[in-house]
Amino acid sequence: MISGREIDKGRRGEVIRVMPKDDRVVVQGVNMRKKHQRQVQTQGRTISPGIIEFEGSIHVSNVMLVCPKCKEATRVAIHREDGKSTRVCKHCEALID
Ligand SMILES: [Zn+2]
Repeated sequence: MISGREIDKGRRGEVIRVMPKDDRVVVQGVNMRKKHQRQVQTQGRTISPGIIEFEGSIHVSNVMLVCPKCKEATRVAIHREDGKSTRVCKHCEALID
């Protein structure tokens, strides 16, 4: 998991979900999407209709991350090795987990 703070057009939020396969992240309060929910019956439960708000995912290349080491807002470089991808600060090359 990343614990860094991300910026989206000047807004910051906690990373709440990471999809490493797709290089996408979900940032709290950023890229909010609305979905209309119809009334659904599942396993005896009724999910009431309404509008659900949820965070959409963002590709990591569209996300700025504040490097924990140099404190600069930076785009992260992704290095792939042995099927693992690591993220590196483009400023100071510190490894960002
Ligand atoms: Zn850095």
